[in-house]
Amino acid sequence: MLTVDSLQHTYRSRTSSHEAIADISFSVTKGELVSIVGPSGSGKTTMLHCISGLMPPTGGTVELLGEPVTSVPEGLAMVFQNYTESLFPWLTVESNVVFPLRYRGIDRAERDGRARDALEAVGLTSAAQKYPWQLSGGMQQRVAIARALAYRPSLLLMDEPFASVDAQTREDLEDLVLRVHETYGMTILFITHDIDESVYLADRVLVLSSPPSRILEEIAVPLPRPRDQIVTKGHDDFVRIRTEVARHIRHRDVPVAGAW
Ligand code: ADP
Ligand code: MG
Repeated sequence: MLTVDSLQHTYRSRTSSHEAIADISFSVTKGELVSIVGPSGSGKTTMLHCISGLMPPTGGTVELLGEPVTSVPEGLAMVFQNYTESLFPWLTVESNVVFPLRYRGIDRAERDGRARDALEAVGLTSAAQKYPWQLSGGMQQRVAIARALAYRPSLLLMDEPFASVDAQTREDLEDLVLRVHETYGMTILFITHDIDESVYLADRVLVLSSPPSRILEEIAVPLPRPRDQIVTKGHDDFVRIRTEVARHIRHRDVPVAGAW
């Protein structure tokens, strides 16, 4: 589905240069949910901008469905961290969801049907005629997810989408992503700085170094699905994997779970 090969990015201006990404290679297969976890400033957003064709990398290649990515591909949708900037305040929730479909030549009946299904999937049927600013942050992020769902992308990119909502809402939204992944068989690349979130959601976790970033480790997450906030997070494997991720991120020895 997605192949990232020797991706490198250096920001350059007339007076300075800053290497954000040193060398990143990985691939994502159809239907996988892969998370990438890394500290703030480790080049996660830079990487997503390169993968989505919004910004040409200064080195390496990205391929989506066997085609090199040189501009934003049709089959891609993205959910951004900052929901207040990703929805149109002058359009209703429903119109926000339908908006990208107008540009794909999808007829009105099909657009409306998809919007209805997507809003139902995120539990916002009754908010369809409201405006984004009438909703809480968590609800606005659900609108952004519904918009991505209605688009039916081959690949969904999510850039720290829940970093600015409260803990309870965050857990609800994580479970929503899991349901969407399960129900629609969607391929998802999920970026986060939250170790627990990266493990809870993923089939595989890629751990980024501090900048200029590389992949420090790739860790499989063989936890059973469906996952559950209480049960999964109490699982021995969950504790073991999150400790392993933390150890890589902190570059120091964290006591092994159960050893104290
Ligand atoms: P993350 O998303 O992991 O927090 P970013 O990709 O936003 O990291 O940023 C990685 C590094 O690149 C940071 O040091 C940041 O200051 C720098 N950076 C990001 N965008 C730009 C830009 N447009 N110009 C110059 N430097 C940038
Ligand atoms: Mg970022």
